Amino acid sequence: KENICQYCQRTIAKRTVSDVATNSSPTKKAKLDLEEETKKFTMDPLRQFKGKYLWVSDLTAQAWCERQLLYDCTGIEGRPVEILETEAMKVGTEMHLKRELEVHTIKQIAVKTKEDKWAIKFLNILSAVNQLLQGGGGGGASRCVVREMPIFGKPFESGAFVVGKIDEIRYNSRDQLEVVEFKTRTKSRTVPSAAQRKTHKLQVMLYKQLFDEAVCGLLKKETILETIGLDPDASVNDEIAAHALMMDLTLPKFGDYLNAMLECFQFLSKIDSLAVEYSSQDDKEPFAVHEHDFDPVWLKDTLDHYNAFWVGEREVEGVDVEEVWKCKYCNYKEACDWRQKMHEKCLSRKSANKVQM
Ligand code: SF4
Repeated sequence: KENICQYCQRTIAKRTVSDVATNSSPTKKAKLDLEEETKKFTMDPLRQFKGKYLWVSDLTAQAWCERQLLYDCTGIEGRPVEILETEAMKVGTEMHLKRELEVHTIKQIAVKTKEDKWAIKFLNILSAVNQLLQGGGGGGASRCVVREMPIFGKPFESGAFVVGKIDEIRYNSRDQLEVVEFKTRTKSRTVPSAAQRKTHKLQVMLYKQLFDEAVCGLLKKETILETIGLDPDASVNDEIAAHALMMDLTLPKFGDYLNAMLECFQFLSKIDSLAVEYSSQDDKEPFAVHEHDFDPVWLKDTLDHYNAFWVGEREVEGVDVEEVWKCKYCNYKEACDWRQKMHEKCLSRKSANKVQM
């Protein structure tokens, strides 16, 4: 048992005392090569692979395994990796869409410019906020639900700009706003592992942070314009302008869409509670709801740690030894340099123990 690597479960080759005493490990060169290889990809991953901003899904993937996320970006040895849509992913997407269509219709609008694309996001926010304002404050509150509301910003005014979409916002029993993330499960009625729940917790906390910052006026016009590289004087296409008009908004320039979106948040209150609802893909029914307390210190520490990777301040990390079971399900398990690195560590630790004994 003691000759099995705790990390990758491979057998550790027997090594002599002199190997350790003289530090003449036969794997030292390989280890240095691996470090060089890793460094190559951690110069500035944000700019290199993502461009101007991150999606919330990038951060939740990072919470699962940062090394896996980087392999998704780089491929293996320069070869891109095709990420196939599984049947479970397809069913999950269909269930999300069905829920979205329960509360509104979707209209396809062709976009030509970045400004068009972002103007549509702003209109979707304006529409969601209008619905919340109409439903809030008593009577209709319990019936008011908005789904797929875009949200973005620089959480805690530091780190990368993050863009996401909140599955659902509704009023809770205290007549306060609640964020609900909707997750589907392939095996009927089983709640996910603690590791998956951690990614869900991160997601709903991040939504609250971004939403609350917008409500408090901390989401700045200049940050959006500069980060994405948008022109406030640009025109948006006629179809978008016509849609705005249907919402009683006359917005001549892109900057007017941005101003209207930022202003509408001031009429809302902060998010009061966070929940993740799990539904089975078998019977399509919800079977569990997990509530999460908001922990801004944990969220900030987590985001700071993640951000250090995105700006190249630290090297990429794979999973800890306690979560090595994730590697079993990973497409990169054969090529993964992090596993190799941990194996090397385990190997030298075991050899050192032998010396001490
Ligand atoms: Fe992460 Fe393990 Fe996959 Fe490596 S093998 S990328 S450490 S999950």
